[in-house]
Amino acid sequence: MPKIRLATVWLSGCSGCHMSFLDLDERLIELASKADLVYSPIVDIKEYPAEVDVVLVEGAVGNTEQRRLLEEIRAKTRIVVAFGDCAVTGNVPSLRNPLLREEVLRAVYGEGEVPGLEEGAVPKLLPQALPIHAVIPVDRFLPGCPPSADRIWKFLQGLLAGKRPELTGADLRFG
Ligand code: SF4
Repeated sequence: MPKIRLATVWLSGCSGCHMSFLDLDERLIELASKADLVYSPIVDIKEYPAEVDVVLVEGAVGNTEQRRLLEEIRAKTRIVVAFGDCAVTGNVPSLRNPLLREEVLRAVYGEGEVPGLEEGAVPKLLPQALPIHAVIPVDRFLPGCPPSADRIWKFLQGLLAGKRPELTGADLRFG
């Protein structure tokens, strides 16, 4: 059976979901026998490639660069997974949503020039941090802050076996 082309992406998140992915530990070796990691913050590949089978997307969508990347990901990927609560609901990054964008940026950068208010070297901050399903259609949701390594493994095993993982409250089942 050919290996699947797997990607992981880090948008507005704390990287905790990726740390949990690395907590797969020795299961990463089994994963590597079944999947090629074709794009990820943990590999040195600059451009999102074509024909990706599965992508795990960590983080909310917080700026225009992330929105553009997410649209590219959707166009090039068969199964898009919202990976962790920030991607699923907005979670921590969306705590800024009741505030005006300028208020948030001034609190960070002070009264001088404020990057992120307009398009420039720093991408423009979106008015709100969005869950990824608010920007593109999402195929699967893998919640948790972060999802545990056991849950990630169960989810990936189901996907790799060609099954359709579904959430059932506390855990996953496969249809
Ligand atoms: S879901 Fe939790 S662990 Fe994952 S990026 Fe968001 S805050 Fe971090």
